[in-house]
Amino acid sequence: DLPILPIGESSVPGAKRIVPLANNEATEPPSAAAQEAARKAMAGANFYPSVTHAELKSAIGAAYGVDPAKVVCGNGSSEIIALLAQAYAGLGDEVIIGRHGYLYFSICARMAGAAPVYAVSAGNANHLSFGLQAALDAVTPKTRIVFLDNPCNPLGTYVSRNDLRTFRDKLPEDVLLVIDGAYADYATADDFDPGDDLVLAGENTVVLRTFSKIYGLAGLRVGWAHAPASVEEVLNKVMRPGNLSSVSLAASEAAAKEQALVVNRRKRNQLARDAFAASLEADLGFTVLPSQANFLLVTPPPNAPMDASALYEGLMAEGVLVRQMGPYQLPDSLRISVGTDEEMNIALAAIKMLEAA
Ligand code: PLP
Repeated sequence: DLPILPIGESSVPGAKRIVPLANNEATEPPSAAAQEAARKAMAGANFYPSVTHAELKSAIGAAYGVDPAKVVCGNGSSEIIALLAQAYAGLGDEVIIGRHGYLYFSICARMAGAAPVYAVSAGNANHLSFGLQAALDAVTPKTRIVFLDNPCNPLGTYVSRNDLRTFRDKLPEDVLLVIDGAYADYATADDFDPGDDLVLAGENTVVLRTFSKIYGLAGLRVGWAHAPASVEEVLNKVMRPGNLSSVSLAASEAAAKEQALVVNRRKRNQLARDAFAASLEADLGFTVLPSQANFLLVTPPPNAPMDASALYEGLMAEGVLVRQMGPYQLPDSLRISVGTDEEMNIALAAIKMLEAA
């Protein structure tokens, strides 16, 4: 009875235009430099790719201020999540996951033979976030890993630098803390911190990042871990050689060198996201969780003409694809990714039209 990971729809028969807001992808395509690097790499695709990923690691090191020797690159961060679960947890073990966290964590725990243990989220309907105390309370001698997505998917909320540090301090030393920063490139809060200091402070914290979001490379499957030496060694032992294609390596290396673009995209995302949230709240009385990511968790008020499920169907008929939250135990809410300004206007107009019905 593994949970089914909902895959976003990419087409709707008969729709005039698709507005793809279901998968938290970047709304922008890969940069021109990344596309050019991919084209060049394609011309040499008769050769096997690098198995050391040395050039990509060094570009990541320069962009993120981390030691390239502590970077491990994966076929998307998903590959690293799966390998960490398999390498560190097994039959009879427990893996702690946020009740409303990323579904793939529990799939990987189960694939490894371990039991996912869900930590109830903290807060209330207006501000739900990863339940740090609940996660600590859930620790037993069988606990091997805590997966903490920060910012959280699908909540969009985050755990602050101090709370993260205190949490690590209170966790037993032999429990691996995996901080999944898939959306960290979008975060702007002053007290947000991806957690790299914790990686350097011991052997029991890993930070995951991805090129699938702000860099617009979801289709090429590149993610990475900032890991202490012992974890890096384990990951390199179990990683499939040649897990990244030469095209993916070249494109992500070029993308990592364009940090000015990342800054611009972060700013645009923030403006589009916050304007959309403000309209839903002010004009329609929706509850919208404060987001540090490129998506919003939105809940229609109880008296709205359409509840989350009717709204989902209505939006789908209009070609606006969003994500239902039943599998995340949030059936009254929808997750809406941040698209272009035009796409957000279309989505907003469609929601207003449907909720006026
Ligand atoms: N972690 C979280 C929290 C995500 O939401 C996602 C994808 O949506 C991933 C990891 C997977 O990212 P990747 O494309 O790097 O495998």
